[in-house]
Amino acid sequence: MTNAEWMEKSNGSFMNTYGRYPAVMVEGKACLLKDADGKEYLDCLAGIAVCSLGHCHPAITEAICRQASTLVHVSNLYHTMPQTELAGLLLSHSFADRVFLCNSGAEANEAAIKLARKASPAGKYEIISLAGSFHGRTLATVAATGQAKFHQGFEPLPQGFRHAPFGDLSALEAMITPETCAVLCEPLQGEGGVRPLEREYLAGIRQLCDTHNLLLIFDEIQVGMGRTGTLFAYEQCGVTPDILTLAKALGNGLPIGAMLATESAAKAFEPGSHASTFGGNPVVCAAAVATLRIMLADGFFAEVREKGAYLAAQLTGLAAKYPAMATPARGFGLIQGLPLTEAWLDQGPAMVNLLFEKGVLLNFAGGKVLRCLPPLIISRAEIDRLIQALDEVFAELSR
Ligand SMILES: *Cc1c(COP(=O)(O)O)cnc(C)c1O
Repeated sequence: MTNAEWMEKSNGSFMNTYGRYPAVMVEGKACLLKDADGKEYLDCLAGIAVCSLGHCHPAITEAICRQASTLVHVSNLYHTMPQTELAGLLLSHSFADRVFLCNSGAEANEAAIKLARKASPAGKYEIISLAGSFHGRTLATVAATGQAKFHQGFEPLPQGFRHAPFGDLSALEAMITPETCAVLCEPLQGEGGVRPLEREYLAGIRQLCDTHNLLLIFDEIQVGMGRTGTLFAYEQCGVTPDILTLAKALGNGLPIGAMLATESAAKAFEPGSHASTFGGNPVVCAAAVATLRIMLADGFFAEVREKGAYLAAQLTGLAAKYPAMATPARGFGLIQGLPLTEAWLDQGPAMVNLLFEKGVLLNFAGGKVLRCLPPLIISRAEIDRLIQALDEVFAELSR
């Protein structure tokens, strides 16, 4: 069956929640995808920062198959080996003392919100997050998200969330009240348009949290797991949070989320405080263990940083070639955004469509930036292919 036939078959079946491109993906290998018509794509989005080791990495596929033929699910009433191995790896490579496993990013943030409230003195419940942030699609994480478009139609939202203007430390300080229990932020905003937070700003937030006895929660769901060139983005920020949330690339495509915390925060959770039926499922944990082992091998992150610098330089080169259309790249490692100029902002979706036609997958984030989130295993030749395609698109549109 062709793309068109499959799309015809599903027409009207699903809730109308996604604007999709006209391709039915059937196969993936490393950085390449193939659709039902046999067309090949260079995937520079990796399933939105998920398949960081590429599609169907043999070692991860093997780990999944082995675990799937051994033990698939027992619930959290019992211990399992893959969970224990995963917890060991996450904790020995981070600041954290304890981990809670769940199934998605939103759930990891829900767990962080619940822990922040439970670990704080009675009466302290309010969480300050930042304008432009994205924290998930459940009601509480939508309330935490600092973008009005995600709120509309879902009011009344859960209470206890306030949004500070991006980059303004004194405005954030002014919002702290006796009810505040935590600050939640992404060290680099992904959906908000690949916007890094300045080091001084992050250090200032940490300082405010210490002064006012607030927990600092970093949402590294998009930028964690090697994306920025270190296992966790906070390692490069000069700031350590109290609570850290992960998901996306943690299982290289299998659904898993994690909430990590220091002992002093984590001890607020007792049996019954929080739970997840599927959380820490043996198969997804086996995939996550295999993912981490590959990432933690010698030289992996150094290569991400090198390729990230190369991608950033090439993107910035394009901005120099088409100054009317784009401005220099921003990001860390292999999360890079190419901001369009004011005059070309409304052409962002058209650019992504043209790239799609040329067999290159990218997206337009925050209404401002062409966002590259390639598999971390992308080659320089593949980066060149992306840049070549972007060059052609810019040339065609500016003609
Ligand atoms: C994707 C994302 C989430 C939500 O994750 P889901 O798995 O879709 O629930 C939360 N925060 C950030 C920063 C994200 O990029």
